[in-house]
Amino acid sequence: MKAAKTPIFFSSSASAKTDLWQESCALRKQYWGCQVFLRGIVEISNHCRQNCLYCGLRRGNRRLRRYRMDGAAIFDAAKAVKRVGFGTVVLQSGEDSGLSAEAVAELVERIKRDLGLAVTLSLGEWDRATYALWRRSGADRYLLKLETMEEMQYARLRPGRRLSERLNALMHLRDLGYEVGSGLITGLPEETEESLDRGLEGLASLELDMLSVSPFIPHPETPLKGHPPGDVTTNLYAMALGRKLMPEAHIPVTSALGLQGDAVRLAALEVADVLMLSLTPPEVRGDYAIYPGKNGDLEDPQERAARFRPILEAAGFTVPSSAGGAWRLGAGS
Ligand code: SF4
Repeated sequence: MKAAKTPIFFSSSASAKTDLWQESCALRKQYWGCQVFLRGIVEISNHCRQNCLYCGLRRGNRRLRRYRMDGAAIFDAAKAVKRVGFGTVVLQSGEDSGLSAEAVAELVERIKRDLGLAVTLSLGEWDRATYALWRRSGADRYLLKLETMEEMQYARLRPGRRLSERLNALMHLRDLGYEVGSGLITGLPEETEESLDRGLEGLASLELDMLSVSPFIPHPETPLKGHPPGDVTTNLYAMALGRKLMPEAHIPVTSALGLQGDAVRLAALEVADVLMLSLTPPEVRGDYAIYPGKNGDLEDPQERAARFRPILEAAGFTVPSSAGGAWRLGAGS
């Protein structure tokens, strides 16, 4: 995949933005047709050893009720993902030191063997040996978001962490044969038009298989509680620019963007091709509170999953049951 030269897009005219949107819609159709790939997320733990300023799971949030699902509960949740006809389960958590690498490996192996689902892991930064173990156990994909490509901003937003460590982790994952995803949050403090452009260009240079662009939503129990939320229109254009720079990538409508409702979801799917829905069991799903409102709906996860199919089909999308892997591995053919 070759990254195009980025314009300083976010300061460009309204007509340039309209042109970009149309171009990106055409690229989405060229690579993924009208397909929307559904992924079921199971949020297996909300413990986190990190203290990111923007995230409700940060270790400094003492008001959050913490949980860690056991292997049987996670497998049952994966079975529910299979039952609703999704091809991929995403196992997601905070960066939880209490997770056993071996237990995760056994679980992945069982999900692959007994359910035949594609498995995406989104469990944060671990060492190369752990990533290798999980890959050997059958994990297909790994999602590790950067949130920003600006070194200083990264260091301030993620105390004690460095952007270079995160980039190294992405290199290990790619090297180990994972399909790799990463992404940005729009609307974080210190963001400028130039930094957003640079961030998307930087991500394109990583030759990712998946790109996530998600609007910031302030959480009341974090240091960024007073910072305004990310602008939805800017986020949509950032997704469009992402599509232009990485035309083959899977681009999801994130749950943070989905909070805006079905109309925004459907608009975003003109450039995006993946819908990620939390199928975390009701007993704990409300506690995966990265931002307020995440998983706050009272709908039964199964009914929620079933509800989306007709909405998508009525809007002219098709919903394949295939796992929807990376373009470079032939998923688009
Ligand atoms: S963004 Fe990730 S690593 Fe940072 S506090 Fe939240 S869950 Fe932990």
